Amino acid sequence: MLDVCLLGTGGMMPMPDRWLSAVLLRTGGHTYLIDCGEGTQISWKRSGWGFTQTTGIILTHRHADHTAGLPGILYTIAHSMRTDPVSIYGPFGTEPLVDALRYIVPRLPYEVNVKELFNGDCVALPGELEMRALEVSHQVPCLAYSFTLRRSREFQREVAEELDVPVEHWRALKSGQDVTFNGRTVAAEEVLGPPRPGIKVSMVTDTRPTSELPRFVHGSDLLICEGMYGTEEERERADERGHMVFPEAAEIARRGDVKKLWLTHFSPALQDPEEHLEEARRVFPETYIGVAHETLTIPFPDEPDEGDGGT
Ligand SMILES: [Zn+2]
Ligand SMILES: [Zn+2]
Repeated sequence: MLDVCLLGTGGMMPMPDRWLSAVLLRTGGHTYLIDCGEGTQISWKRSGWGFTQTTGIILTHRHADHTAGLPGILYTIAHSMRTDPVSIYGPFGTEPLVDALRYIVPRLPYEVNVKELFNGDCVALPGELEMRALEVSHQVPCLAYSFTLRRSREFQREVAEELDVPVEHWRALKSGQDVTFNGRTVAAEEVLGPPRPGIKVSMVTDTRPTSELPRFVHGSDLLICEGMYGTEEERERADERGHMVFPEAAEIARRGDVKKLWLTHFSPALQDPEEHLEEARRVFPETYIGVAHETLTIPFPDEPDEGDGGT
């Protein structure tokens, strides 16, 4: 399963009642943060999710409302007693950005690895999570991300028993390796069940709609997408500033055949996003206004919708 927590829903600047847009993902004992504007660590603390397991920080682009909180978060992770490395991912320009922000947190008890990503890059993150990057259309280099948690194939114990495979070889078979014993070979293919669907979450923010986005987010269990402005009437302004209106985000969700859309990154001028929800729902009914600290545990399709939620 994959846990998702939306830490904030604001764009441009934090407001007294609205944290900046940021997301936490958690699976297999690894936590990933996507974007970290000013104040994100406070919202993170309110969420109750710990800092020690932070394996990666993923930045969509360099604008302050997505990055200015980084030094404080690195410092707080240090205070959480983490000593394992932390990787920071982002578009072109992320290395000098992190160097500059680290000027005020030069010494940390863990290694920080920075990796710049480009259009189409795919990264295997610890926790069996596959991250893909898509270049989008904003004023500066900006990436959308999709995260897929692969589901391993089921080990069919009864088949292994029928084939008289000794128990000490089961682990290898489970991991997909063929095994040889008593002069014969059993292929993993023979004992593993059919491929099983995984879990996909996509994050798209600070961009105009692009022709690649529906395919990129296709089939997501959850799409978190910006809606800087509410109505179609503001489309011209959104276009000028490299953002979207709600119905444009909903159109990406509809064409991408996603299961659910959370809108985020609202303009400070947009005081009540709910006012414009119906307009977006006419395009894609499963549209919701993002709510800070809203947490979703997404199980595998063949997994019961319950569990400890805390791995
Ligand atoms: Zn922004
Ligand atoms: Zn921006």
